[in-house]
Amino acid sequence: MNTIKTTCPYCGVGCGIEATVEDRSAHRVSIKGDSNHPANFGKLCSKGATLGDTVSLENRLLYPSIHGQRVNWDSALNHVAERFNAIIAQHGPEAVAFYVSGQLLTEDYYVANKLMKGFIGTANIDTNSRLCMSSAVVGYKRAFGADTVPCNYEDLELAELILLVGSNAAWCHPIAFQRIRKAKENNPNLKIVVIDPRATASCDIADLHLPVKPGMDGLLFNGILTYLQQNSRIDRTYVDTHTDGFELALSEAMTTAGSIEQVAAGCGLTTEAVSTLFDWFASTEKTVTVYSQGINQSSSGSDKCNAIINCHLATGRIGKPGMGPFSFTGQPNAMGGREVGGLANTLAAHMDLENPEHVDRVGRFWGSANIADKQGLKAVAMFDAIAAGQIKAVWIMATNPVVSMPDADKVKRALQHCELVVVSDCIANTDTSQLAHVLLPATGWSEKDGTVTNLERRISRQRPLFPASGEAKHDWWIISQVGQRMGFKDAFNYQSSADVFREHAALSAFENDAEHQQRDFNLSAFAELDGPSYNALQPVQWPVTNQQTAGTARMFADGQYFTANRKARFIPIIPRPPVNAPDTDYPFTLNTGRLRDQWHTMTRTSLAAKLNAHRPEPFVEIHPADAERLGLAARSLAQVQSLWGSMLARVELNSGQQMGSLFVPMHWTAQLSSHGRMGALVNPVVDPQSGQPESKQTPVKIKAW
Ligand code: SF4
Repeated sequence: MNTIKTTCPYCGVGCGIEATVEDRSAHRVSIKGDSNHPANFGKLCSKGATLGDTVSLENRLLYPSIHGQRVNWDSALNHVAERFNAIIAQHGPEAVAFYVSGQLLTEDYYVANKLMKGFIGTANIDTNSRLCMSSAVVGYKRAFGADTVPCNYEDLELAELILLVGSNAAWCHPIAFQRIRKAKENNPNLKIVVIDPRATASCDIADLHLPVKPGMDGLLFNGILTYLQQNSRIDRTYVDTHTDGFELALSEAMTTAGSIEQVAAGCGLTTEAVSTLFDWFASTEKTVTVYSQGINQSSSGSDKCNAIINCHLATGRIGKPGMGPFSFTGQPNAMGGREVGGLANTLAAHMDLENPEHVDRVGRFWGSANIADKQGLKAVAMFDAIAAGQIKAVWIMATNPVVSMPDADKVKRALQHCELVVVSDCIANTDTSQLAHVLLPATGWSEKDGTVTNLERRISRQRPLFPASGEAKHDWWIISQVGQRMGFKDAFNYQSSADVFREHAALSAFENDAEHQQRDFNLSAFAELDGPSYNALQPVQWPVTNQQTAGTARMFADGQYFTANRKARFIPIIPRPPVNAPDTDYPFTLNTGRLRDQWHTMTRTSLAAKLNAHRPEPFVEIHPADAERLGLAARSLAQVQSLWGSMLARVELNSGQQMGSLFVPMHWTAQLSSHGRMGALVNPVVDPQSGQPESKQTPVKIKAW
């Protein structure tokens, strides 16, 4: 039997796995946590532990097809390349798009981004990570001059106060949450505060739960900044030496927040609870603020991120053990996608599309004179452009937007009328693949070979356990082949994922020095990595440079940031409520989120019987008093409806749910439950800075069905 070290393909915690292949032809493998991996030290949650149940050939896409007819790879690749070239020739490069995924490995992501931005010449490539953490990217870039996560998991263990804001880490990042739980057991002085409209499983270890009014977190953090000033808890030395813009940010905070009573009233909280939070924050040096989708998925998500970061900068609590603003990303490789520039508004290796020097540098590195130099369309705008007929060809990789996008029925109609829809995926039958003209089979977890980056900047290898199933190919290979057939032969002549990774690392190091204004993302230590060393790559946190080959555990320890003057920036924040408020027709606020035992649209987790036992069908959580008022019995069926669409769900009574709010999980597809797609309900409102949809706050009504 052969034991292989690899990485879990689900959440951003990025746990290491030891997989022992018991029967290669029967795809039988036993799974355990890798006791040497620094993300999890041998532990796995329910999803990771049942990965062995998900590697069968059930519902696998195994052969290429065009219009439902099986074809060979040559025909499929030629067809995609010719159709893309023809549409570009007739309508220009802005008429094509890629919609990719945080499920892709970094190597896949790198090649997709290079083809679209570097050679097709448009930045119309966006990713489902737009729905997950693009507001966090804006927050970090505005404050630090770069998309740099300052903290690591050890900081959670060293902290004396942890705020979990808009984060149900117990379910969404279970092993990171277990580390927090363990830290609390070891250190009774560690206080945990959960700031979330719902009482979630994360409240099990909370000393204080603040059921904040949906969307009002920015006001709460402006209140903290105000309190710090009024109680002389600002670190003036740090602020004066290492930051810019404090006075203006403070002035906005004080103007908008007012007194503790006013903050409490605005946030729908008790004065006592707010006062306790402010006091704990002011008096606890070692504070980590963890924030996740409850902050990011908002029309003011970027501002909320900066309201949090402002409080850490004001107290100098960043870059030091046990402190910092810590964004928890959802997906296994959302971070890798950020590194290669997988978002429509970023360039490769953490460079910027709006910076002519960066565009010139990447163009020279790639040997292309046709590189995109302005932002492309972000996810919601991209599907709007498809619906409007402006984008005529889209290639969707490893994601299911017909389920997960807001206003998902519109997304479905857009694809139904699009001239060319290409879908590459490891899954055969999804709500999105049903609308594809061309289907390209990709390798899945257990076959893929490459790297991912977890939410603490740690790069780990995902290694193959089995050969590719059927005729499936790695995504980087499929994209490279199309790139070559579109006429970019030399630029996409990769022989292995190691070739791609080496180039990615070399680009990160290219002109990355004090002379050219140093960038945060740097893998210079890997710029000449050979195949065996790539195969043996150990988990490591970037930057990994020739000077620092063991990686970098914590950023900004020296108080130097990636702005032009090396100072961090305070961002003045004027809190805004959600764009669409409940009214008499749609009186509830709909919140959406993950379940403990499912992943995304359940294409893999639904294959594990143990995971399905947790929650077998779509449900809607409602406060018992609201249910009684509306005559909704527990376990009855209800229709939930918004201005954009509707779904059917089983009624679950939950007194942890705020009155006037509903919660539905995000996972069910039309394949699994014909009327259970929550994406159909969600308003397509986005944050103007990040383009991230407001997936947590849609006005809805509910009635018995
Ligand atoms: Fe996988 Fe996340 Fe669970 Fe770790 S915590 S085993 S990465 S799903």
